[in-house]
Amino acid sequence: MSLLQRARPELVALKPYASARRSGFKARIRLDANELPWDELDDERSESINRYPEPQPERLRERIAALYGIAAERLWIGRGSDEAIDLLLRAFCRAGHDNVVALAPSFGMYRIGATVHDARFRAVTLDPSADFALDHDALLARIDADTKLVFLCSPNNPSGTLFHQHIDSLASALASRALLVVDEAYIEFADAVSACGLLDRHANLAVLRTLSKAHGLAGARIGSLIADEEIVDLVARIAPPYPLPAPSVRAGLRVLEPAALERTRERIALLVRERERMRAMLANLPAVRKVWPSFGNFLLLRFADSRRAFERLLAHDILVRDFSSQPGLDNCLRISIGTQADNDAVLAALAGAPS
Ligand SMILES: *Cc1c(COP(=O)(O)O)cnc(C)c1O
Repeated sequence: MSLLQRARPELVALKPYASARRSGFKARIRLDANELPWDELDDERSESINRYPEPQPERLRERIAALYGIAAERLWIGRGSDEAIDLLLRAFCRAGHDNVVALAPSFGMYRIGATVHDARFRAVTLDPSADFALDHDALLARIDADTKLVFLCSPNNPSGTLFHQHIDSLASALASRALLVVDEAYIEFADAVSACGLLDRHANLAVLRTLSKAHGLAGARIGSLIADEEIVDLVARIAPPYPLPAPSVRAGLRVLEPAALERTRERIALLVRERERMRAMLANLPAVRKVWPSFGNFLLLRFADSRRAFERLLAHDILVRDFSSQPGLDNCLRISIGTQADNDAVLAALAGAPS
């Protein structure tokens, strides 16, 4: 069964907005999009900024598809994975009626996106004292006839846990019922095989990737949805006509050049080494109660007194993320891995902290 039967029928039937750039015609004199005929910035190296960009820039699409090892037909590129999360919620969930399931703690945008769209949000609680292990059956017990999306963030933000060993069986268990959305924002730091390799086996699998984290392009907002062609077409149909600003597309192409990709690989290796160094060093500090293993470029820690640690870091001009008000995460802070100097500054600031 096609998973489109679980999407909102009025959207499956929707004829998309016929934007000028979608017509496919090419001509020297372009008077089809009410654009200004002059380029104020007149940047020699780039597309004229007075023109609307391609809805899905072909070169960027080919490069990203090659990077992730997938067919370009399975790829939709948007303004960060955040936009893909929002569009999936809108494509599948009838507002005020359908529900989505996600882990807790996990990335906050699933809940926010669901609430903005008035979809019901169901959390599957992970136990910090069990290292956030996922109980497969507990997750499936939250699924009902109105569940449309299941978000699995792996490696999970903020716990750092990798859940990839569950993807194949979860996708099978959810087949024809719900779309399993695997958010791989941090997969590059995990030394794990992407769920993209399972797309042939599961029509109800979607993978989110981003250039924001490992590729250092958070400011450009380039994220990818990778899924069955039917789902990609549906999302493309309801997406705004020109999601990708031309300067962001240029930035994306630059970080996907071979030399840049080589630097990215080296930086990932460095960050992973630093993560493990920090994990060992932090675990030895008297102020630290627990450092969880992490497959991302961050560590989740429990302090004896997280408020004190947070303030001490801030006094040393270091900002970290406070998770202490989240259920189960009392006294927990999340620390991103920075440069070696940044990380040393964290250690130096905390070393003197009273427990
Ligand atoms: C940072 C983050 C994102 C955001 O990605 P963008 O592509 O920048 O929108 C998505 N998912 C998770 C889990 C993240 O931590």
